[in-house]
Amino acid sequence: MIDFNDIEINKFQLNTLLNHQEKRGFKYLLSNELLCETCNQHCNSGVSNYKIFLDRFNDIKVSGECTVCSSNVNMVMPFGENESFFRKAMQFRNTHAVLIES
Ligand SMILES: [Zn+2]
Repeated sequence: MIDFNDIEINKFQLNTLLNHQEKRGFKYLLSNELLCETCNQHCNSGVSNYKIFLDRFNDIKVSGECTVCSSNVNMVMPFGENESFFRKAMQFRNTHAVLIES
């Protein structure tokens, strides 16, 4: 059965899911578009201790800590809208399910 919950993925797994262009998009979003609600500004100095998830819509969700104030910061990157990414994500979920069941 395919698991439609958020799946935590590591950077290696993320690398296999993203094509070259999407990797650039990911890096760009991570360093430019992450917003800290506590500081009320972009996390210009970056995010620390972050985890990456494949969420139920097959989007990439990043959850980490603001390097300035240590508040939780979250961001959803809508990669699931992309058909080729969506297909890869479904394949990944299939493999993931097999690994859990065996
Ligand atoms: Zn902050």
